[in-house]
Amino acid sequence: MGFEKIVNELPQSIFIMGFYTVKVQQILFFLTLTIFGCRSAAPEIFEGYDYDPEGVTETYDREIVQQHKRTIGFMEDRVWISNEFDGARVSDVYRLSKYSYRIEIHPEIEPINNSPWYAFKIWSEEPVSVEIELQYNSGQQRYIPKISRDGGGIWENTLDEEYTHRRSSRTGNLTLTITDEPVLVSAQEMFTTAHFQTWLDDITQKPFATNSVIGYSHENRQIQKLHFSEETGTAHRGVVILYGRQHPPEIPGYQVSLVFLETLAGNSELAKEFRNYFDVWAFPLMNPDGTDNGHWRTNAKGVDLNRDWKHFRQPETYAVKNELLKLKNQKNRTVLYGIDFHSTGRNIFYPIDSSHITNPHQFSVRWAEAIREEIPELSLGIQPFDIDSPIAKNWTYKTFGADAVTFEVWDEIPRELIEPFGVRSAEIFMEKMLEEYHLLFK
Ligand SMILES: [Zn+2]
Repeated sequence: MGFEKIVNELPQSIFIMGFYTVKVQQILFFLTLTIFGCRSAAPEIFEGYDYDPEGVTETYDREIVQQHKRTIGFMEDRVWISNEFDGARVSDVYRLSKYSYRIEIHPEIEPINNSPWYAFKIWSEEPVSVEIELQYNSGQQRYIPKISRDGGGIWENTLDEEYTHRRSSRTGNLTLTITDEPVLVSAQEMFTTAHFQTWLDDITQKPFATNSVIGYSHENRQIQKLHFSEETGTAHRGVVILYGRQHPPEIPGYQVSLVFLETLAGNSELAKEFRNYFDVWAFPLMNPDGTDNGHWRTNAKGVDLNRDWKHFRQPETYAVKNELLKLKNQKNRTVLYGIDFHSTGRNIFYPIDSSHITNPHQFSVRWAEAIREEIPELSLGIQPFDIDSPIAKNWTYKTFGADAVTFEVWDEIPRELIEPFGVRSAEIFMEKMLEEYHLLFK
């Protein structure tokens, strides 16, 4: 669009009124500046990260493929395979030969981010060794199978000699001894909404902790908020927001988030001091439908919830946003931080790029560096991002001016590190957040 065109498009009345000539010149000068200014600074519209499927930010309802829930019995082998439980995912099962089966894993919608989730039970009349070929469709293996022989209490990694992955054929071959006690095989440890409810019921025994239902998912599951507010605390309080489990298979991030919350709710002097000055608004399980339906990524309408923080077309993101907007312009509450828990290929924090002035400024980086120093075996990475994507972290900053982080826990983090990661990151967080509070509101 040229300058000539802009002049032509100005309302004629401006030119008719002679004594406004100077004014018009000023307007034209301003317009020129604006147009050229905008041209050089025009931000590109965010349409997804390079690993996202096309159209990921168009968060309208989509048609997903429902998984057929059933228990298949191979009578000639006396072996049964089932996906009839929450969190399960098996798309199809074939018998290849005696005690050998192919399990097909399809996502809820295609194309989709690479995160093939599967979970099933298998058992037999007599103890036998079986071969299971996992066929990853529309993706590549991301999770090495975990096994539980006690119904989901204790999980073990499969050993190298028990599982081999072939990238070229998108398959994994698992050798397993089974008995008449069902063995659970799952991409990661299983934590469904029932587990979350038990955890929530437990933590809300604390006098300062309450939970409330702030909305319902497409399939009518509760969207719950966990709230910490110590009544004996100071009148003017900081607020920390915690988001979690927007992406159902990202289990280590979910586990660390629960330990993190337990530490904030703990009996230590530090936690008590923290609760003197801070409230916590937490939404640790934001995608209950995806969780119980064993989805790879999305909610019941095939939408990646962490790309819906602009349009809020989905009930889960809408409910959380609506609840959080109550914090806007509250005299006695200042949102100072937001944490969104996820999992990926390594332990890494995604802070907000330092060119954006957050309040507090660059807290994420200082926090991450302190964690890295204290638990070097986490090899915690730090990679700042711009704020153009419609994700929870950016919405937190744009809405409240607060700093925020996407807190990524490695998919294959050694499980004994989950507890220390959650506890120490929370303790360092509380120490540093208290310092920020006193600097800001002394
Ligand atoms: Zn995620």
